[in-house]
Amino acid sequence: MGIHSNGRVLHTVNRNLRSILEELRNIHGIFASLERTCTKRSNYDRPPPLPARSWSPNNIKCRKLDLTHRFIRDAPKFPLGSLGSGLENLVYFNVTTLSEQYYGDMWLEARKIEFYEHQGTHIDAPLHFGNGRQSLEQIPPERLYGPGVVIDVRDKVKVNPDYAVTVDDILEHEREHGKIPPNAIVNMNSGWANKYPDARLVFGTANVTDPSSFHFPGWSPEACEMLLQKRQINVLGVDTPSIDPAQPPIYPCHMYLQPNNVPLMEYVANLDSIPVRNTTIVLGAMKVRDGTGGPTRVFAFIDEEHDDMTDSVETIYPWVYLIFIMLCCLYM
Ligand SMILES: [Zn+2]
Repeated sequence: MGIHSNGRVLHTVNRNLRSILEELRNIHGIFASLERTCTKRSNYDRPPPLPARSWSPNNIKCRKLDLTHRFIRDAPKFPLGSLGSGLENLVYFNVTTLSEQYYGDMWLEARKIEFYEHQGTHIDAPLHFGNGRQSLEQIPPERLYGPGVVIDVRDKVKVNPDYAVTVDDILEHEREHGKIPPNAIVNMNSGWANKYPDARLVFGTANVTDPSSFHFPGWSPEACEMLLQKRQINVLGVDTPSIDPAQPPIYPCHMYLQPNNVPLMEYVANLDSIPVRNTTIVLGAMKVRDGTGGPTRVFAFIDEEHDDMTDSVETIYPWVYLIFIMLCCLYM
C-alpha cells in the first residue's frame, strides 16, 4: 500500500472512531436525562460526590505528628481549692447530652461540655498570669506557629524529678543543633508525657489536692529570661502540668513570661517522636473572648530532608531490594 492509501485507511478509522464516540455521548446523555426525570431525590439524600480534591493534607510532603493528649473528664487538674479560693468542691468537667436521636429521618447528636480551661494539652493565654494582657481571642495568629525546638532533659529528670531546665541546657542544645531561631516554639521534653492521664503520676504524689507535695520538672526563671530576651521565642511549652517546676510551689516563670505577652503550652504529648529541630509547630488554639486558656490541638510538621526519625523504616527498604537483586544475579 502506498502513502495515499495508508492515509485513506487512517482517515476512515478516524471517522469511525468519531462516530462511535458520538454514539456513546448520545447514550450517556439519554441515561443522564432519564436519571434526572426518574429519580425523585429526598431532601435527606447524600449530596453527589465532590470532584477530586486538588489539595489534601497528604500533599504536604512531610511527616505530620499530633502533639496532643486526649481531652477527657479524668485529665489531671491543678487543685484551685489549694489556693484558699473557696473552690474546694469545684466540678471541673461536666457533659450534658442535648440530643442523641432521630427527628424524622434526620439524626442529631449534640452535647454541652463544661470544662476547666487549663486541662489536658492546653494553652495559657498571657491573661492567665498577666493582668490586662492578651486573652485567647487577642493572641495574633503569627504567635501560634513557629520553628519547633525540643530541649531534651530526660536523663537529668530521671535523677531529679524537680529538675528546672537551665541556661546551660539551652546552650548545650545550641552547641549541637545551632542557635534557636526567632519566633520558635520551645519545648521541654522530660519524658513526663507517658504518665498522662494518671494524676498521681503526673503530679508525682499520692495527694493530688496538695501542691506542696507535688514533684514534676519545668523551666528555671533564668532560662525563661534568656529565651524571651535573647531568642525572642513565640511560645514556651512543657510535657508536665506547669512551665514552673512543682518545687517550690511558686510560679516565677508564669509571672515573668505572661505579663510579657508570652503564651505557654502545658501537657504537650509525643515530644519523643519528633526531631529536636527542623519542625514547624502549630497551635490550634480556640478563639474565646476573655479566654485565659483552653484545650489546644498541637501539630508538628517535620521537614522531610531532616527527618532522621524515619530512618529505621525508610532506609532499610533500599538495602532489602539491593540484596534481593544481588541474590537474583547469583542464581541467574
Ligand atoms: Zn495552664
